Amino acid sequence: MDRNIDRKSQEFLNAKQEMDKLVMDSLKSENKPNAMFAKLSDLVKAIPVSSKLVKWSRRNSLWPLQFGLACCAIELMDFGAARIDAERKGYLLFRATPRQCDVMLVAGWVTKSMVPEVKRLYEQMTEPRHVIAFGECATCGGPWWESYNIVRGIDQVLPVDVYVAGCPPRPENLFAALMKLQDKLGGKIEV
Ligand code: SF4
Repeated sequence: MDRNIDRKSQEFLNAKQEMDKLVMDSLKSENKPNAMFAKLSDLVKAIPVSSKLVKWSRRNSLWPLQFGLACCAIELMDFGAARIDAERKGYLLFRATPRQCDVMLVAGWVTKSMVPEVKRLYEQMTEPRHVIAFGECATCGGPWWESYNIVRGIDQVLPVDVYVAGCPPRPENLFAALMKLQDKLGGKIEV
């Protein structure tokens, strides 16, 4: 078992060394590769306008995590349906893995026993990552704010970018919250 783990980590190390070599070869001017291998951070440093491009891309392609905690999550399902047509503004399909997401929509109450799991999902998301507290429960505990096992707002656990009021809020409110987030990420968004 341990030998398997050693072999896997060695393979990973070799793949990383291979990738680093391709990046270095690609950046040398005497080589004329027909494909470029580079890390996004290297490209941003090498091409002056690329930082604006990266900012524009991040702002216009928010990837929410497919994740719901209670009744507010039903509104997320409606948000993903054709009536709202969220993709027209770049709010792409919900992803089932946190590693492909940069927006966490906390929809529903958070029990104290769920806090470690929610934090783990947040920590696995790509950076920069953002949080939207969707509904009264996620914002302040909602009807359960005096309960012994409900957290009084996800902002006690994670940094929240945008709050959405309502019990439950409408899908249109989530659309507005994502526009607010885009606004925070860089510039006004035309409607
Ligand atoms: S805010 Fe209302 S609808 Fe949303 S999870 Fe709480 S009780 Fe349910």
